Amino acid sequence: MPRSEREVAVVGAGPAGIAAAQQLVREGIDEIVVFEKERVGGLIYQANKIENFPGFIGREGKYMVEEFRKIVSKYGITVRNEEVIGIESIQNSFSLNLDNDIEKASILILATGTQPIKMGFEGEITHPDWRDHSGEKIIIIGGGDAAYDYALRVKRLGGEVMIMRRSAPKALPVLVKRAEEKGVKEIKTEPEKIQKCDEEFYLQTEEGEFRADEVITAIGREPRFPEIFYDFDPQEVEFPTGETEEEKLFVIGSTVLGTYRQASLSWGMGVAAGMKAAENIRHNRKYR
Ligand SMILES: Cc1cc2nc3c(=O)[nH]c(=O)nc-3n(C[C@H](O)[C@H](O)[C@H](O)COP(=O)(O)OP(=O)(O)OC[C@H]3O[C@@H](n4cnc5c(N)ncnc54)[C@H](O)[C@@H]3O)c2cc1C
Repeated sequence: MPRSEREVAVVGAGPAGIAAAQQLVREGIDEIVVFEKERVGGLIYQANKIENFPGFIGREGKYMVEEFRKIVSKYGITVRNEEVIGIESIQNSFSLNLDNDIEKASILILATGTQPIKMGFEGEITHPDWRDHSGEKIIIIGGGDAAYDYALRVKRLGGEVMIMRRSAPKALPVLVKRAEEKGVKEIKTEPEKIQKCDEEFYLQTEEGEFRADEVITAIGREPRFPEIFYDFDPQEVEFPTGETEEEKLFVIGSTVLGTYRQASLSWGMGVAAGMKAAENIRHNRKYR
């Protein structure tokens, strides 16, 4: 049975979703719920070193995540640790399908971020663990910011790292320079075949065969949505509020930021969506 309808449901507790929820509470709207299928904080948890967000310069992403948890607690935000599987629009409200439940809300803010594009080999992982990597040989496939950020993290945590990229690095020059200084090896080639054998990986390339204890792929990310009732074009989403052509549906954060996927922009869109959603709610209350 659906519970009574919430004023706002937010899907995703990364920077965009947390900012939206916090702003709503600040605006006096507290009938809200946030759904998060993994952990509060989103993708920034993976950052080795944040350099473009005041208050967190030079710090690991987990410190920003800690701050998000404090916000959740201080502002009394309800976070349900559940995945939203599908969304329908019924009679002027949204119906969110969960594993064993349905939740209804009159305004919906989607802040579901991105998911990694996978190569699809056995044992593939898409980000390193935050653990000691001493004695491990790790190959990271990719040439963008994430590949270099992961390489610097694994190196710092004791691993021997090699970046395998098929073209020139696409990462920020500062990351490429730092990787070079820290002794991260790089090779310009791509694997033709990756085989997992007794917990070891063998990568066949034009430059020969390479062995690794772990192979991490960082070859790009794509927007992630729960199954949603209508197709929309991310280009048509209003910036910064995330308003869409579907009344009362907002889509915010890295899902719609294209090449500008940064925590600060996700946070900013979250604040704007929270302000706009609160304005809609106040308007509707006045004319009810
Ligand atoms: C290695 C690395 C380093 C980075 N470094 C920086 C940096 O230094 N500075 C910077 O600004 N940015 C950095 N970023 C980018 C930053 O992490 C993202 O731009 C930011 O996290 C995007 O925020 P978001 O809220 O839009 O999405 P996300 O952080 O991806 O959050 C989306 C959340 O939605 C949840 N979710 C998705 N689908 C569902 C569902 N159906 N039901 C329930 N929950 C769902 C996910 O579990 C996730 O927690 C880095 C990223 C990486 C990978």
